[in-house]
Amino acid sequence: MRIGGLQKVTLIDYPGRVACTVFLSGCNFRCPFCYSSELVLPEEIKKHPSIKIKDFFRFLSEKKGLLDACVVCGGEPTINGEELITFCKRIKEMGFLIKLDTNGSNPDILNKVIPFIDYIAMDIKAPLNDKYKDFSGIDCLEEIKESIELIKRSGLDYEFRTTITSHSIDDILEIANYIAPAKKYFLQRFVDEKENISGESYFVKEEDLKVIEENIKNLFEIFKIR
Ligand code: SF4
Repeated sequence: MRIGGLQKVTLIDYPGRVACTVFLSGCNFRCPFCYSSELVLPEEIKKHPSIKIKDFFRFLSEKKGLLDACVVCGGEPTINGEELITFCKRIKEMGFLIKLDTNGSNPDILNKVIPFIDYIAMDIKAPLNDKYKDFSGIDCLEEIKESIELIKRSGLDYEFRTTITSHSIDDILEIANYIAPAKKYFLQRFVDEKENISGESYFVKEEDLKVIEENIKNLFEIFKIR
């Protein structure tokens, strides 16, 4: 396991909590719109400095009582297998809440880590059909479906979220209807803040967002466009 980054404090990544965010390097997806190449592409990961695990835990021990929670994201944390479980268990034993951000491609590890985390955020990249591969770069449809069901049954607080890139309105409606009913679904505007893997830029019209909102807002306990 390689820690590729640490945000020492965040007020927005764990709902209602003061948290830090730890970025684990490596991802099995190749989403064209990904802007974290330093955490995804092996040649970029090598160039990017890492943080020693012991230094991260030293940081956390100094933050007891100051931070409520730790967000574990990537890359894709579950590619670390059993190491992720040991990592989360150790954070949890220090008294922090844990939110795990995942692309949902590894339901087996997700299932094993659930007892040691408090909140799951899963990206839903595309409609649950052949298009998934175009948006994620790998064939993982069955695993994604399994993770969605697992998360909904987990008893944990959770959210599903989709960053809108080259999706059509129908693509988003299809995603929403597949995952519903569910606690929270967030649609995210693509933010063109740094270069992404494909070099493409994406834009969604506000009127399209309104159409989507009208059609799906009642399918979820909480629905937001952000
Ligand atoms: S799953 Fe996330 S980190 Fe991995 S390639 Fe896609 S956007 Fe990037």
